[in-house]
Amino acid sequence: MVDPTISIVAPLFNEQQTLPELYRRVSEVMNSTGETWELLLVDDGSTDGSTEYIKQLAHQDRHVKPVIFARNFGHQLAVTAGLDFSRGQAVVIIDADLQDPPEVIIDMIKKWREGYEVVYAVRSKREGESWFKLMTASIFYRMIYRITDVKIPLDTGDFRLLDRKVVNVLNSMRERHRFLRGMSVWVGFRQTGIEYTRSARYAGETKYPFKKMFKFASDAITSFSYLPLQLATYIGFISASLAILAIPVVIILRQSGSQAFFGQATTLIAVLFLGGVQLISLGILGEYIGRLFDEAKGRPLYIVRESPKDFPD
Ligand code: UDP
Ligand code: MG
Repeated sequence: MVDPTISIVAPLFNEQQTLPELYRRVSEVMNSTGETWELLLVDDGSTDGSTEYIKQLAHQDRHVKPVIFARNFGHQLAVTAGLDFSRGQAVVIIDADLQDPPEVIIDMIKKWREGYEVVYAVRSKREGESWFKLMTASIFYRMIYRITDVKIPLDTGDFRLLDRKVVNVLNSMRERHRFLRGMSVWVGFRQTGIEYTRSARYAGETKYPFKKMFKFASDAITSFSYLPLQLATYIGFISASLAILAIPVVIILRQSGSQAFFGQATTLIAVLFLGGVQLISLGILGEYIGRLFDEAKGRPLYIVRESPKDFPD
């Protein structure tokens, strides 16, 4: 098959229940556009039969290209693999759980044809998600916006269209702890957003438990900001200044016979506070050093058991 114009990349982890509907809706939308297309289904170590389903689908329909991981590597790496294997002139990243409506792709392609190289989708509304998810997500996007230099548009996910030029640049950035929505802003190019309503999951439940969300957030922050490292310096300056100011205050109070600042409790509080701050700073250093260590090892970002080459073209 000659290279398609549009590649759709859908990372998935145990999404057996939604896959038939995803395939149906993506095919319907893509066939209506009249573009040539491929659907890269990146199986991130599923154990629920998704793998078998994808393989079967690939034998029935040549639009479907499986990328099957040797184990679970995580959402961002699954998307990375999809970008690596994609051949289209434009690549659309979409969640496999149908929270990102495939119909929006039609508008994305329109914008792309107008000359935009990144078309990201902004969630103007989110349906069917817990208040906890909404709150943490909202805080996260606003914090990232404030503390990093890349101005990632608020409330955008990975649902976006990327021109081949952008995909090639992203594919050359082999950093291990990936925050793709940051990276795709960092590269520049002509970018625009379109609004959409984020639906509820079609079936199943979120594959992003709190632990993964936390890792995702710390990857995002450490990849794009030094602020946590600088925090130790700031707190150090503040507490040193406070200490200097405190010296004359304590002397004067003691001279005037006051009972303030006597006893163990005050000392203990000061020692515990500073000890805590020092441990937190060490931990933050550790986060960065651990990531450096990972980069230094230079292992592959993901391991593929079966790639599109193993399926009919
Ligand atoms: N996903 C994945 N690997 C993982 C976790 C999630 O490929 O380790 C996929 C998942 O199947 C879905 C997408 O990434 O297609 C987004 O995950 P999810 O819908 O669970 O996250 P949420 O929308 O709840 O933030
Ligand atoms: Mg989801």
